[in-house]
Amino acid sequence: MSQPLSSMPVSQLKGVGPQLAQKLSDYGLSNYEDLLFHLPLRYQDRTRIHPIGSLSPGMDVVIEAEVVLADVVMRRRRSLLCKVRDGSGFMTLRFFHFSGAQKNQMTPGAKLRCYGSVRPGPNGLEMVHPEYQVVKSDQTTETEQHLTPIYPLTEGIQQPRMRSFCEQALKRLNPYSILDYLPPELLEHWGLPTLHDSLRLLHAPLPDVDQTAIQEGMHPSQRRLAFEELLAQHLSLLRLRHKTQQDRAQLLTINPELQSQFMTQLGFQLTHAQARVISEVAADLSKGHPMLRLVQGDVGSGKTAVAALAMLYAISSGQQAAIMAPTEILAEQHYQQFCQWFEPLGLKVGWLAGKVKGKKRDKILESLLAGDIDIMVGTHALFQPDVIFDRLALVVIDEQHRFGVDQRMALRDKGMVEGSEQATLRPHQLVMTATPIPRTLAMAAYADLDVSVIDELPPGRTPVETVAISDQRRDQVIERLRQSCREGRQAYWVCTLIEENEEMDAQAAQDAAELLQNSLPDTKVALVHGKMKPKEKAAVMAAFKGGDIQVLVATTVIEVGVNVPNASVMVIENPERLGLAQLHQLRGRVGRGATESFCVLLYHAPLSRFGKARLQVMRETNDGFVIAEKDLEIRGPGEVMGTRQTGLVSMRVADLLRDKDMLGDVKQAAEWIIRHRPDRIELLIRRWLGHGEKYAEV
Ligand code: ADP
Ligand code: MG
Repeated sequence: MSQPLSSMPVSQLKGVGPQLAQKLSDYGLSNYEDLLFHLPLRYQDRTRIHPIGSLSPGMDVVIEAEVVLADVVMRRRRSLLCKVRDGSGFMTLRFFHFSGAQKNQMTPGAKLRCYGSVRPGPNGLEMVHPEYQVVKSDQTTETEQHLTPIYPLTEGIQQPRMRSFCEQALKRLNPYSILDYLPPELLEHWGLPTLHDSLRLLHAPLPDVDQTAIQEGMHPSQRRLAFEELLAQHLSLLRLRHKTQQDRAQLLTINPELQSQFMTQLGFQLTHAQARVISEVAADLSKGHPMLRLVQGDVGSGKTAVAALAMLYAISSGQQAAIMAPTEILAEQHYQQFCQWFEPLGLKVGWLAGKVKGKKRDKILESLLAGDIDIMVGTHALFQPDVIFDRLALVVIDEQHRFGVDQRMALRDKGMVEGSEQATLRPHQLVMTATPIPRTLAMAAYADLDVSVIDELPPGRTPVETVAISDQRRDQVIERLRQSCREGRQAYWVCTLIEENEEMDAQAAQDAAELLQNSLPDTKVALVHGKMKPKEKAAVMAAFKGGDIQVLVATTVIEVGVNVPNASVMVIENPERLGLAQLHQLRGRVGRGATESFCVLLYHAPLSRFGKARLQVMRETNDGFVIAEKDLEIRGPGEVMGTRQTGLVSMRVADLLRDKDMLGDVKQAAEWIIRHRPDRIELLIRRWLGHGEKYAEV
């Protein structure tokens, strides 16, 4: 019998005392099994000595060569240059930091074994600061037997130590000390290696391994682990979904009279896409189980109207509905919009944000609990524990990409009032996002949700024309702005985040506003930023909406949801600092009316390669889905999905972009496991998601 590695704490490792054990476990490495799942980031090949004559720039290699001469030179920097040869060629070793002892070691004729990166130098190839050792003439040092793993590290633990810990754990690895939770039938069907073989190979790959594949994370052993991780992820979301479907929820139907009154208020026809999504929602609401539906729709596709109609189902059925927005400005705007739509129907709309305090707040909470309010609009302040609804049946979460999965889960319980007769009913949930997620990712990220797409914009929109201009030509841009304002247009001027510091951010926006006002004396320029009081912000937004302000200078607070159809110019300063999704969101503030709109990306040269690529994408397309795909290519899924999005980001082995071709197989494998080996579900989830209890439990 061998002891399960998960029950062997790291304190049993050689060279690990209580303090280090604590450090390791803070880093997520508590036992031997954790260490074995702590996989190398990459590998070095120190298994053989390369002749200098065979090298080319970019290679990381071991050479063994004899010192020809070593000299300290003083050019731009004082450095030690050591010329070496091995019979096949010459190369230079370059050191910027060195001791006298080091220099003395490098006497002509001394033999050095070096490991480093080869790069072109002024006199042929060189290595900068190679690791090296002096080889005694009568001594032949062995080369490494396998590729050298480079592990991810935490502060205070160096590479050699981490390597030694993983080596020690590896010695204890056998098929019984870590169980393979993937059943043999499944391994065979998908052609996957065993867990045991995979881990052994990845910690100590032999030199004949496919090195290109392993460096890129495409080796079958890596693929197998990624497969297992994605599978665990998927199973946990499916389990969540399954649980939701077993819950009960209010049956909601719409009152046709109320509906036609509402449509009259609305003043426009729904697009086909909007109508289709509403019918999908309606079907969910009639099932008696909680709806959990994600609506993806590009900026300006009309998600608010869809939300409002869904809410009408709740209200028609004598229930309450709530909508939560990620920022106060957006919530405020929804509040105004909903008052306009619903009050003429005799319905009561309430408002709550973090800034609402004291008596005002008490009063709102009171009427909410009394059931006097039909529709509640607010920020996440809505979901504090003391906000209690009388009969909440539908929750809408707008711009979901701003909310983490935790909030998604916290909401499940909202509206379940202790002791009330509805205690067993959960509210329906409609989640809306303007950040389209590529289909493959959506499948993985939202396996617990149903997804609807509004893939059509309301009629009469003209696409926004986008140009990128260097900020050296700021004057020309301001001049153009002057003309636009004279033609009766309104403009946004967005200052992007400089530091992670709201104070400085606000200051920069203030400076920009002053500069603009000075350059445009005939134009009314105003400022809105995150440090302003909500009342001030609201007043500025209202004045802009009312046309009293022509140029609105803003920090990225206006990013989501703001709707001023007459605004047709968007200037974004330093757009290279923003991701594509954010740029697309910002640009979506214009192009909402019938006039043609412009977006000026006022960049600061020189642009990085990524910066250039992003601005190029923005100029080429207005399609949010295309942009999402590009964003994924340029930045990778972690950034695209937002750090707290789903835990998909913190995956240990899998990489959604690299491994997306597996997602279809993973889905099938999950179904197979559920049908044939349900005993493995819990084990897999615990192994891979054990640290993110939110997922594992629920
Ligand atoms: P988003 O999907 O970005 O939240 P909004 O709901 O704010 O978009 O809608 C953007 C604008 O389009 C609003 O002014 C809204 O009134 C308008 N709108 C929505 N649906 C339609 C439609 N079917 N026809 C015409 N205008 C519409
Ligand atoms: Mg919106």
